[in-house]
Amino acid sequence: MSMLTCKHCGGNIEAQQSTCPNCGIPLPPNHATQKQRTFIAWFILLLIFCFFMMMWLPPDWSPFVGQ
Ligand SMILES: [Zn+2]
Repeated sequence: MSMLTCKHCGGNIEAQQSTCPNCGIPLPPNHATQKQRTFIAWFILLLIFCFFMMMWLPPDWSPFVGQ
């Protein structure tokens, strides 16, 4: 399964744990899924950004590559 790192002490945490085994700090109830959702959101944002750049940039690349 996925291993996460504690933001407080930097130790390893398993996704299903509710407290850090190293420093004992309480973790958010769904910290694993939250992290995954953030990653997916950034990935979708990046795809949208790439799509808009493709639309916005001119199809003729000659001014950039010379001749
Ligand atoms: Zn910790």
